[in-house]
Order: sequence, then structure tokens, then C-alpha cells
Amino acid sequence: MTTKNTNYTTFFGGSKLSILDPCTHELNITHASAINRHLASSTMFLARQVHSATVLVAPQQTHLHSPVIWLGQGDALITNQEKASIGIITADCLPLLLYDSKNHAAAAVHAGWRGAVAGIVDKTLLRLKQAYGTDARDLIVYLGPCANVCCYEVRDDFVEQLDDLSSVDKRDGRFYFDQPRYATKQLRAHGVHTINIDALCCTMCVSGYNSHRAQKGKAGRNLTAICLKELL
Ligand SMILES: [Zn+2]
Repeated sequence: MTTKNTNYTTFFGGSKLSILDPCTHELNITHASAINRHLASSTMFLARQVHSATVLVAPQQTHLHSPVIWLGQGDALITNQEKASIGIITADCLPLLLYDSKNHAAAAVHAGWRGAVAGIVDKTLLRLKQAYGTDARDLIVYLGPCANVCCYEVRDDFVEQLDDLSSVDKRDGRFYFDQPRYATKQLRAHGVHTINIDALCCTMCVSGYNSHRAQKGKAGRNLTAICLKELL
């Protein structure tokens, strides 16, 4: 699913354009190039994601010939570079895209439970403010496909780590985590009002998505990305 706006383009991919191969977990360059075409992007910046709260800044580059540039270890990317996309790789964790409508800057965030609890959302908003002067009230946020509360069972010891249980649903003695609700609460606390959920669906029970849980570790990876257009 690609959405086009005057100032930016977003992409919420599933298994059809898996960014990593289900067996080898190698990067699929053909798919990366196809996604770049959808986004009108000359290259895509990606990170070695480790469920941390580390935010990486995609540098300004003039020679963008490679379909993918790996930036190193981290779980959110921010940029104000036009015509180069930033992407997040997932297979059940929640991906977020953020667009700063005032400063023409963007972020892509890997907001699975570990990173979210570690503060990746707060850190991304802070880095956007430091780098581009972003005010959270000017952000347009998109929630991407993830394991949702209908399916995402979590263990009791995870629930015990949470300071607030409003994102946990208890059914038949089991706990289910609501990743979109958890991230939304964090975003709202910073003053974000515009949160778009058109691309949000459950990777575990909706077909067409890679799901680590549903495919028992043999899944490819979904790509969620944003590309800033050149402002005329
Ligand atoms: Zn589900």
C-alpha cells in the first residue's frame, strides 16, 4: 500500500514485497528497488534493528546510487533529505512513520514492545526537535501493520514491567498487548494530534503480511517507509 501526498510518499509493505528473504533473511534487492520506485526514492536508508531506543540520522548524501544504505545499529531513523527514503523492517512489531509538516522532516520508528518500553518514541521526538526544531503538534503520524491486540499474547513477566496496564487486554486468563494503543498514548503525551490508522492491521490474522509469530519464525519482513518529496 502506497499513499502519495503533496510533500511525501509512504509505503506499507507486506509479504508481496518482503524486504528480507524468509529463509536466508538476506536483503531482497529486487524488492528494495521496486519499493524505491513506488516511493520515487533514489535510495533507502535502513538500520540494523535491535529493539533499542537509539535514533539514527540519515546523512545528506549527493551520491545515492545504491538501492539500500545501511546506517548501523538503531531502531529509528530521521531525515530531512528529499528523494531518499527511510524504512523500518518488521514482522509483528509496530512500525511508525512521522512527518513534520512545518519543517519538512520525517522519521521511521521500530516501536515493538521492547523498543517502546525502552523509550524509542520519546527519543525520536526529542531527536526530531534537536535536529529540525520539530514541534510534536505539527506531526502527522502513521501506524503500520503489526501484531494487534486480537492476537498478540504476552507473558506475565512482560505485563509486570509495564507501569500502566491500559494497553493490556486480559481474556480467558491470558494477556494480550495492544502495541498501537501503547504507542498512541506515548505520542499523545507529547502533543501529537494527527494519528492515521488506515494502514494499521494485524499481521498475525490478516493475510498478506509477514508475521514472526504466525509463521513460527519462518517469516520474511515487511517494510514500512517514507520519502520526502522535493518542495517546489
Ligand atoms: Zn490478529
